[in-house]
Amino acid sequence: MSPSGRIVICGGGVIGAAIAYFLSLRGVRPLVIERHEIAGAASGKSGGFLALDWCRGTPLDRLARRSFALHAELAETLGNPWGYRRLATYAGQAVEGKTLGRPSRLPWLGESVAITGQIGGPETTALVEPRAFTTGLMHASGAEVKRGTVVGLADGGVVLEGGEIVEGDAVVIAMGPWSNFEGLPQVFGLKGHSLVFKTGDAIPAEALFLEYQEASGEVLTPEIFPRADGTVWACAISSTSSLPRDPADVMADAGAHARLEALCRSLAPALAAAPIVARQACFRPVTEDGLPLIGKVPGLDGVYVATGHSVWGMLNAPATGEAMAGLILDGAARHVDLAPFVPRLPRR
Ligand SMILES: Cc1cc2nc3c(=O)[nH]c(=O)nc-3n(C[C@H](O)[C@H](O)[C@H](O)COP(=O)(O)OP(=O)(O)OC[C@H]3O[C@@H](n4cnc5c(N)ncnc54)[C@H](O)[C@@H]3O)c2cc1C
Repeated sequence: MSPSGRIVICGGGVIGAAIAYFLSLRGVRPLVIERHEIAGAASGKSGGFLALDWCRGTPLDRLARRSFALHAELAETLGNPWGYRRLATYAGQAVEGKTLGRPSRLPWLGESVAITGQIGGPETTALVEPRAFTTGLMHASGAEVKRGTVVGLADGGVVLEGGEIVEGDAVVIAMGPWSNFEGLPQVFGLKGHSLVFKTGDAIPAEALFLEYQEASGEVLTPEIFPRADGTVWACAISSTSSLPRDPADVMADAGAHARLEALCRSLAPALAAAPIVARQACFRPVTEDGLPLIGKVPGLDGVYVATGHSVWGMLNAPATGEAMAGLILDGAARHVDLAPFVPRLPRR
């Protein structure tokens, strides 16, 4: 397709924003159709944690490595309004109500946490504030953003709720867990809850992945990420509750935030005292085989899909955007092999 053609991107999450940005580097000004708000779903509420090589040994390895490098380049090129920072990353254990007896090697943590090892350093792990990253890329792309609900595909475009047809020479479906269209493998939504604490400079650039045993015996796996803007993002509680049709209707499960708050407050004095500035819930897009869908939709002219990035959507957005721009404009991606992600039915 030539750069003068019209490209319509359905969905203003991080994947849609990254595709828009990399298309703009090739002189294309795409149209983005968003139902709710840019970064209003998982892309504005996620952890924003990035790792160079945590996908090694899987089909995602190349995509992740390319993306990790692109994140550093994007922060440099676009002035880093999203607080991109490198950090050290640790694993640890905690048991509710117990002191584990081993001295924690991280001074900001309380005695209930035992660090079991360092699992990443500034060369291999990094963090972004996801809402600022997504809106920053979208803004830098210069894309036209239209409010609308995509309900189907038309010949040479998409159909919006209410019947309007938006024409495009190419259409990209990037609606996260809402990307279910006939002829594509199914995309599901897996819910996660998170809290954002205001901690100022009390917690250094040290991310934490924990195993936390509650008094009931249940084991949770909290993730604690200190951001460059003086906040700390924390999650631990996923659920299988169903995906609402409208992204604006996503709500937390009853009791999930209180349970997460109690857990976080027990881990460190700085978290015990900190005000909470956001209580969030969102759905990560997942596929049956665990791999994203990135490519041309078979049998449909000019229709592409990019979704299903699960827990690595913030990480893998830049390389996905770059690859999609290459695929649409040149017929192939240059830096990554998209073969494992081709959206065909069945995909096994
Ligand atoms: C709790 C949690 C923590 C996470 N932490 C990390 C992390 O640390 N690192 C990492 O790399 N990834 C992380 N992820 C994963 C990451 O957030 C997602 O993979 C990523 O945000 C998905 O982006 P997306 O653009 O595909 O989808 P979304 O962000 O869901 O965006 C889809 C967009 O499409 C819009 N839309 C939906 N339906 C329609 C329609 N009919 N018409 C028009 N628009 C529509 C929605 O409003 C939304 O804006 C996390 C996810 C969760 C849930």
